[in-house]
Amino acid sequence: MSAIIRRAVYPGSFDPAHYGHIDIATRAARVFEEVHVAVYARPAKTLLFSIEDRVKMVKDALADYPNILVAPYDGLTVDYARKIGAMAIIRGLRVFSDFELEFRMALANRRLAPEIEVVTFIADERHIHISSSTVREIASLGGDVSSMVPPEVRDMLTAKFRQQRNDGQERDYVISLHD
Ligand code: ADP
Repeated sequence: MSAIIRRAVYPGSFDPAHYGHIDIATRAARVFEEVHVAVYARPAKTLLFSIEDRVKMVKDALADYPNILVAPYDGLTVDYARKIGAMAIIRGLRVFSDFELEFRMALANRRLAPEIEVVTFIADERHIHISSSTVREIASLGGDVSSMVPPEVRDMLTAKFRQQRNDGQERDYVISLHD
């Protein structure tokens, strides 16, 4: 049996995708032969962007990496990993407070699928403060998020909040600064 893990899955909500996510995906693509970025269709949180928009923003951001694939998924991450033959689940760790949740999720996933390893990448210090919820909140208030997200995502945020203002639903989705 080969001891090398060739294919890994990087799951997340990516609502929206930002430079912290992109950094983890591209670093993982140097470690694994193939990285599948799996965009969770229905996370247990209020979403700003549709699954189609979220897949598109991740695909656009990672288009230059031939060994990174992007697709939507639903259900258990370990089931999706098994379906595509991925033997590792990638997660990013920013601050210490991420650790407890990631630790619990990794243990639960291990119980469900002991053959799949959870591999965590430590966030780059330039991106440690970035989270999707922070990006959403800053963009909703008209702040400049261009240091946090690619230009295409910034434009999608601008369009989304313009549309929400026109529809009279401004800031309905804002929960807190913490994901
Ligand atoms: P989820 O709903 O699964 O937390 P997210 O889209 O918020 O989905 O995050 C996906 C993954 O990316 C998680 O492992 C998260 O810890 C990681 N991540 C989020 N922000 C950053 C960042 N700034 N730097 C590195 N990793 C990050």
